[in-house]
Amino acid sequence: MVSTIPFFMLSFLYKFNSAEAGKNEFKSYTVMNRIYLDNAATTALDPLVLEAMMPFLTTHYGNPSSVHGYGRDTRIAIENARKSVAAILGAKPSEIFFTAGGTESSNTAIISAVRDLRCKRIITSLTEHHATLHTVEYLHERGEAEVQYARLLPDGHIDMTNLETLLRESKSECLVSLMHANNETGNMLDIETAGELCKLYGAIFHSDAVQTVGHFPLNLSKTKVDMLSASGHKFHGPKGVGVLYVSEQIKIKPLIHGGSQERNMRAGTENVAGIIGFAKALELATENYDKESPYIRSLKLHLMTRLALQFPCVCFNGDACGSSLYTVLSVGFPKTEKTEMLLFNLDMSNICVSSGSACTSGANGGSHVIKAIRGNNDRVTVRFSFSKYNTKEEIDYVVEKLGELM
Ligand code: PLP
Repeated sequence: MVSTIPFFMLSFLYKFNSAEAGKNEFKSYTVMNRIYLDNAATTALDPLVLEAMMPFLTTHYGNPSSVHGYGRDTRIAIENARKSVAAILGAKPSEIFFTAGGTESSNTAIISAVRDLRCKRIITSLTEHHATLHTVEYLHERGEAEVQYARLLPDGHIDMTNLETLLRESKSECLVSLMHANNETGNMLDIETAGELCKLYGAIFHSDAVQTVGHFPLNLSKTKVDMLSASGHKFHGPKGVGVLYVSEQIKIKPLIHGGSQERNMRAGTENVAGIIGFAKALELATENYDKESPYIRSLKLHLMTRLALQFPCVCFNGDACGSSLYTVLSVGFPKTEKTEMLLFNLDMSNICVSSGSACTSGANGGSHVIKAIRGNNDRVTVRFSFSKYNTKEEIDYVVEKLGELM
C-alpha cells in the first residue's frame, strides 16, 4: 500500500516541521561523521545509562545469589530495577522477568503458551519479526501447534474482522501473537482491541512490543495482554537484556533450567549491569517522552515531506501517515540501476540505513514484511529510523545525497 500526502498538506507539514525539527535539544551522537538512521535496528547507549551501569561493571560485582554483602547489594539493585520497570509499564514486579532480549522473551512466551497453556493453535501474521515467525514455524514443524496468519489490510494493518473470525472458528485453545509496532513499516496494532478480542474468545495474547516499549506509553494493567516482549537496546539501553511481562493471571514454566534466578523462571546468573541499564533507559525514556517524541516525529515528517516533494516517484510503505510509530519510515523507491545500489551507496556516503529488519540489512529484495503487504518486492525499500540524537540537518543532508545517488 502506498501512502500519499496531498500537496496542500505537504507545504504545511514542511513549514511546521522545518521549525520543529530545527530545535534539537539533544546532543548529536554522530560517530566518525556517520549519519545513523537505523535506530529500529539498535540505538546508541545513553551516557546516563552507561553511568548508571558502571558501578555494576566495576565495584558492585557481587553475584546476586550470594548471601553476603556484595551479593545483597546487587540483589537489591535488581529488585529496584524490577519495581521501576513494573511501575512504568503498569505491571506488578512479580509480572516482570528479565531475559537476554526480545528474541528470548518472544520464544519463551510462544513456546510456553503451547507447552504449558495447551494452546494448540497459533494466530499470528506474516509481518511479525523472525523471533516470532521462526518460533511459530518450529512448533508447527514439530506438530505441536497449527498456525494461522491473520489477513492483512492493504495498508499492512491486521484485519481485525478476520482476526475475530479466526478466533470465533477456533475449536482449540489459541495463542494470538501480534506485534505492537512493526519494525520495518512502523505500523501500530490497536493493542487494546486485539486484547479485547482475545479475551472475548478466551485466547492467550502475546505482543512483541520491542519497538514500542521505551517509545510509547503502555499501561499493562488496562491492556488485555497476557505476555509482552521488550528489549533494552531499542531505547538507548544496553544490548542483550530484555523483559518478558507475564500477567499474574497465567502461569508458565521456565524455558531455561538450572538455578532459581528470576523466581525459578529463568536460570543463570543475572546480567546485572544490563538490568540496571534497562531500567535506567526506560526511566529516561518515560521522563522525556513528552519532549522527545514530538521532536522525533518532526524528523520523520520532515523526511517524508522532503522526499515526497523532491522525488514524487517514492512511496511510503505501510500506514506512514496514519497509525504508525514516529521512529520508523519505510520508503519504496522505483527499481532502477541506480536505486538497486542505493543502500550500498548510502553506506559509502556514511549514511546508515537498512532495507528492513537488522537481520536483512545490507541485503535488498528480501523483506518478508514488504512482500507480505505488497505481494512482491518490486521496489527498493529503504528503512529510515530516527532517534533523539538525529537532527534536521542530517535529514537535509540525506535528501541531498539521495538527489545525487538517484
Ligand atoms: N522483535 C522486534 C520487533 C525487533 O525489532 C527485534 C529486534 O530487531 C526483536 C524482536 C529482537 O530483539 P532482540 O534483538 O533484543 O533479540
